[in-house]
Amino acid sequence: MRIGIGYDIHRLVEGRPFILGGVNIPFEKGLLGHSDGDALVHAIIDSILGALGEGNIGILFPDTEERFRGISSLELLKRVVDRFNFKLVNIDAVVICEEPKLNPYIELMRRNISEITGLPPGRISIKPRRKEGLDETGKGNAIEVMSVCLLEEVV
Ligand code: MG
Repeated sequence: MRIGIGYDIHRLVEGRPFILGGVNIPFEKGLLGHSDGDALVHAIIDSILGALGEGNIGILFPDTEERFRGISSLELLKRVVDRFNFKLVNIDAVVICEEPKLNPYIELMRRNISEITGLPPGRISIKPRRKEGLDETGKGNAIEVMSVCLLEEVV
């Protein structure tokens, strides 16, 4: 068994889609980033890479490379799943987001991540939290995500 932790933060700006967990959520602002900016999937990827001891998302998919511009982060997750031998046991994530309300979209996010990882939705936990107006994230200027995963190595 191996455990991994991932963290990500993206600025929220106008003129960008708001994509989290592969769900395009209607909102006046979106996550800034080289890819689609999906901070939840980025944190999950980093937790898996952490558990595997295989570096981090910036090494595998550099934001300086044109071929990753605007790419779906679910596609990046798929590449990690295809490239390394492992079996996930569970994922648990906290998404710190002042607005919009994420609860209506959590099931869709779990389903998207389930489809890519093969992990049943019941083993994928995504918990939205607010920061009560504190700091930049709490003021609605960024989204932060923390994720842990447990996995078995497949020999
Ligand atoms: Mg990121």
